[in-house]
Amino acid sequence: MTIARVELDVPLSGPFDYTFGEAEISIGSLVAVPFGRRRLVGVVTGLSDSSEIDKSLLKRIERVLPVEPLPGRALALAAFCADYYRHPLGQVLSIALPTMLRKPDFGKNARLWAYSLTERGLAELPTLVNPRAGGQMRLLRALVEGDVLDSVQARLIYRGAQRLLREWVDSGWVKKRAVRSVRSPTSTPMQTISAEQPVLLLTDEQRLAVARISEALETFSPWLLHGVTGSGKTEVYLRLIQHVVGMGRQTLLLVPEINLTPQLEARLQSRFPALSMVSLHSGLAEGERLSRWEEARSGKASIVLGTRLAVFTPLPQLGLVIVDEEHDGSFKQNEGLRYHARDLAVYVAKSASVPVVLGSATPSLETYANAVEGRYRSASLSLRPAAQAPRIEFIDVRQKRLDHGLSEDALNIINSCVSRREQCLVYINRRGFAPVLLCRACGWTAQCRRCSARLTLHARTSRLKCHYCGREERVLSACPECGNQDLQGLGQGTQRIEETLQAHLPGTRVLRVDSDNTRRRGAFARMREQIRSEEIDVLVGTQMLAKGHDFPKLTLVVILGADHALYSSDFRAAEKLFQQLMQVAGRAGRSELLGRVVVQTEFPEHPVYRALARQDFAAFAADLLAERRRCGFPPYVYQAVLRAESHRESDMWSFLRGASTKASSVAEAGITVYDCVPAPVFRVASRYRGQLLLQASSRSALRHFLSRWHPLLNREKASPVRWVIDVDPVEL
Ligand code: ADP
Ligand code: ZN
Ligand code: ZN
Repeated sequence: MTIARVELDVPLSGPFDYTFGEAEISIGSLVAVPFGRRRLVGVVTGLSDSSEIDKSLLKRIERVLPVEPLPGRALALAAFCADYYRHPLGQVLSIALPTMLRKPDFGKNARLWAYSLTERGLAELPTLVNPRAGGQMRLLRALVEGDVLDSVQARLIYRGAQRLLREWVDSGWVKKRAVRSVRSPTSTPMQTISAEQPVLLLTDEQRLAVARISEALETFSPWLLHGVTGSGKTEVYLRLIQHVVGMGRQTLLLVPEINLTPQLEARLQSRFPALSMVSLHSGLAEGERLSRWEEARSGKASIVLGTRLAVFTPLPQLGLVIVDEEHDGSFKQNEGLRYHARDLAVYVAKSASVPVVLGSATPSLETYANAVEGRYRSASLSLRPAAQAPRIEFIDVRQKRLDHGLSEDALNIINSCVSRREQCLVYINRRGFAPVLLCRACGWTAQCRRCSARLTLHARTSRLKCHYCGREERVLSACPECGNQDLQGLGQGTQRIEETLQAHLPGTRVLRVDSDNTRRRGAFARMREQIRSEEIDVLVGTQMLAKGHDFPKLTLVVILGADHALYSSDFRAAEKLFQQLMQVAGRAGRSELLGRVVVQTEFPEHPVYRALARQDFAAFAADLLAERRRCGFPPYVYQAVLRAESHRESDMWSFLRGASTKASSVAEAGITVYDCVPAPVFRVASRYRGQLLLQASSRSALRHFLSRWHPLLNREKASPVRWVIDVDPVEL
């Protein structure tokens, strides 16, 4: 073999042929190659003796990166993903790799150090390190047991490792040498599990779920674990993991967001202290990410906990896949490669012939329909073992005077909760102070110059912010239309509610938690600690706080401003609202204290709220599914949407119309091509946006159609229009 087919991170469809000489190359190898004037890392997907291109014109592979080749299953997942989501394979492969492995010079200049104990260190250090200094002890133990440690691993064990190791090197206790790549951790035999925590006695429902799911761990079976919030789904995951670890296999556990990882990490660690676990998320430094990825890829990590991107981690010993809060929108990537991590998780489990457990209190209707119609198996947990279901009530605000969005009733309820020394969450899914800045004299509102959207007033910083393009402006002192100096913020956001609560409940410790004040690394973790240690009485937060968190002293949830979701034109609005409200409601009363949920609304009779009051997901889902079937919406049809945007409106429309004509020319029976329409927010960051919806009666019909249509669109390379096909869109 002399020719390697290489997939590259370029928007063109590969593979590209390269020659190679002596280098040891196999399928899955990462290689550095010249491409145009650049150097890129590519993945070898094929080897051959011949090329369609004249051999003398082919360029040569420059070097092979010093890492193990990607295994076949990882390549197959990427290929599936590329085909299903209509994305160039080289780009998919690149997304799946840790950033450090996308650099052609990776491992060339050793920037890594390997540390080991000197004889003197082995003799003296154990008596010198203070046994109370946990981090130092961990580092020492790792050096004694593992003998060599690289700098990335060391930092993972103890944050202050770098400084400490330097001291130890200076004192002659430790020696260091440069290494070229992160050491592929030598596979140690899986440790046996010792449960340090008192293990809970499972409820009957939990026991049944564990027994049924673990019955067939060696074959693919998709499961819906449908358990009300607080019903102990996590406990079921832990038991399943225990089984899987016992077989010497790995578990992939996906969670919707990075903020949920520390809590789960702690729980896993205390349950399985001897097990190697890695968590993978976008908040990691590059080196950390690579080293953890290596640990997962080598099969050494028994548990891989991560957010959506972790679904691409190659796991040679995979034994179980779990997707927690499977309904959550964050599993869908909404730019670039628009994949859905939950759907890919099912694919991953299938190709590894292992079970996948999709857990939720409010499953997505897609998953729920799969379970109801028997394609997925289901296990349910209907009771809370440690607490009672919260009581849900409504404050009808049609006849009431509101003070900055809060009714007197709501304030009283919050006040009495606080005076019992319990905690309260005021949930409003809008950040900022007020969503609109209005002139009451002439009706002018502050609009973003670059988007067809209003600017949100952020009072704390006296800025107007566009939540679509990020543009910021100073707050105007007078109306630009009529000169009126009395501009008013209309409606409520988290900042205004925070302010109102502080004004009405003096002495109460109010903490706002939204993406504006948790952007800094570690900010959210600190807040969580404050809440858990009861330094806070009232939390004001967006959906960041709705998901999965467990605050034992939180007994009251007050929901504000949910009504506006009822006006949405999105056919998923009711489903999403119900999921959101059930999740937030689930934050109340998770321990022995009884929970109470109060919804302030103008429509207490609305079906969404009635279903919430009964906490009856099944009936609500049955109604929604019947409606979806009647109206021809997913999951009974399969959709893809072509999204296009351009600085010139006419370019965007002519591209979409052209695409529509091409679609009609290749559409077979069962495919519906809809009209080209403006996107819900027509202009964002000075680009006009439009879309074209395609619908099919079956998934295979959709795939077949896309495989014929997509190449036709690809022909227009020089177009000024940016476009993307979004398969299985979650927003239209
Ligand atoms: P979920 O993931 O379904 O929201 P969790 O697994 O977090 O629920 O469990 C909620 C609470 O119930 C936790 O505090 C957990 O320790 C407790 N719990 C779970 N299972 C049991 C059990 N079998 N007996 C007693 N308490 C339990
Ligand atoms: Zn005006
Ligand atoms: Zn904008």
